[in-house]
Amino acid sequence: MGKRQELLRSEPNMPEYRSAAQAAGKAADELVFWNGRLSIPYNAVDRHAEGWRANKVALLWEGESGSALEFTFSELRDASNRVANLLVKHGLGKGDRCFIFLPRVPELFISFLAILKVGAVAGTMFSAFGPDAIRDRLKDSGAKFLITNTELMQRVSNIRGELPELKSIILTDAGSSGGETIAFRDSGQMPSSFQPEPMSPDDFAFMLYTSGTTGKPKGVVHCQNAIVHEYITAKYVLDLKDEDVYWCTADPGWVTGIAYEIIGNWACGATSLIYEGRFDAEKWYSLVDKYKVTVWYTAPTAVRMLMQAGEAYKKYDLSSLRHLCSVGEPLNPEAIRWGLKAFGLPFHDNWWQTETGGIMISNYPSMDIKVGSMGRPFPGVTAAIVDDAGKPLPAGQEGNIALKPGWPSMMKTIWNNLPKYNEYFKGGWYISGDRGRMDNDGYFWFIGRADDVIKTGGERVGPFEVESALIEHPAVAEAGVIGKPDQLRGEIIKAFLKLRPGFSPSPKLETEIKDYIKKRLAGHAYPREIAFVDSLPKTRSGKIMRRVLKAREMGLPVGDLSTLEEY
Ligand code: ATP
Ligand code: MG
Repeated sequence: MGKRQELLRSEPNMPEYRSAAQAAGKAADELVFWNGRLSIPYNAVDRHAEGWRANKVALLWEGESGSALEFTFSELRDASNRVANLLVKHGLGKGDRCFIFLPRVPELFISFLAILKVGAVAGTMFSAFGPDAIRDRLKDSGAKFLITNTELMQRVSNIRGELPELKSIILTDAGSSGGETIAFRDSGQMPSSFQPEPMSPDDFAFMLYTSGTTGKPKGVVHCQNAIVHEYITAKYVLDLKDEDVYWCTADPGWVTGIAYEIIGNWACGATSLIYEGRFDAEKWYSLVDKYKVTVWYTAPTAVRMLMQAGEAYKKYDLSSLRHLCSVGEPLNPEAIRWGLKAFGLPFHDNWWQTETGGIMISNYPSMDIKVGSMGRPFPGVTAAIVDDAGKPLPAGQEGNIALKPGWPSMMKTIWNNLPKYNEYFKGGWYISGDRGRMDNDGYFWFIGRADDVIKTGGERVGPFEVESALIEHPAVAEAGVIGKPDQLRGEIIKAFLKLRPGFSPSPKLETEIKDYIKKRLAGHAYPREIAFVDSLPKTRSGKIMRRVLKAREMGLPVGDLSTLEEY
């Protein structure tokens, strides 16, 4: 990799990793509190609408069909004020849950802000969810309002009878209001001023369900104070500046789409691009080119898909890009090297969870990247590797990735499930459920989810290490690795591989891939079994669901599939 300085295209907001703790504290002071109370939407949007950013574009939106819209900070403030007035008129109050079930359209973002202005709790759901996923979430949360559209409403209609607490449904495309249905467009007649409810930092603000990668999704609740951490990390990790055009490709059905597509990014006053459509390599490149995107925040699954599109990037002018970040799954070293080749820039991996509400461990523009490492804790966050009793382990040893509780965006509770919430804490640490190790320089390395780590012949093997080695083979596009029970070895490693275009399965290729891994990893870490597949089971947020591979392999029930992507 090139020298750090040479890869920088702008002076970082955080010039040096260590100096940042103090700066982070100062950044939090830039947010507006009223006698110890605050408001997320006020700090993310209204504050800018009252100042020099009033006419700055906050939201650049492009629809799936190619239509485009722009909203300035003052337009976003006014639109969300009108919707807040509509919600209050129909009886939404502080603490009520209001869920949004929409594609990535402007109404989603406006509604989210409006719900928080009322002091209600906003919940989001990915628009591809089917009736079971919708019912589980609306029922568990006891949602009182739902904001959706006519098409998606069809999926709710079948389960409507099972949702006694749901009182009103707001349709973004309804012609007029009637019965339990409220027309979103009636907000056009509402006043454009609204005083956002001043909230205690500990009041609930939004909730969302985890990805369901390892089991049944958990209803994670976040409070108003989350903005403090989301703002400072957007500033120092995503490095957002006033001149940026920022594109986060996540869906607000997942936490990244809330923390860094609504809250942290707008709190920085950054112009943010939202694309309604699905992944398509050429389309994505054309958007970077058209909108001159400078900062790009995406996920490893998307980077791997871009890699599969080969050199398509050469057809577009992508020279506006200056900073690339990735989250959600381990970022394979191959993906970083490819980013350097395609864009002349490395992807900066960062690690966090729905429960942490914001970035916890990260690579920063000013810090040397160790390829394959998630980076170092965000200044002010204390992270460690601890054993199962919560005792910190020395550098180099594998253990649980843990955090000292108390950072501002830490989840407040798990909805309806206090015992589950309490399970996260041991020996004064928040235990993440992920395994990793820390090196002597304080960099963290991801090994795997606690449930996914493979025990073979007395050795522990992280699936990430094997998967990363596998996708370095020229024939392999994607890899999912599991431990398969074995009488002799406890478990053996089994790999499910999707091949790149132009390659087809054969015993010869299988042997070649096994030999390739044997040369790269410790002798015991090669997959004794390989299955070639057309696709891997993934969550809607693009994570490989190894538990599904494993259950299928063993002929066991696959468990909660509400977040599984059709494939
Ligand atoms: P569930 O908790 O329902 O099983 P999930 O853990 O996938 O689902 P999220 O909160 O969306 O739900 O994802 C957080 C998890 O994603 C982390 O615990 C970790 O396993 C993985 N992850 C996120 N970022 C990274 C990263 N940079 N490197 C490795 N893994 C990551
Ligand atoms: Mg999780």
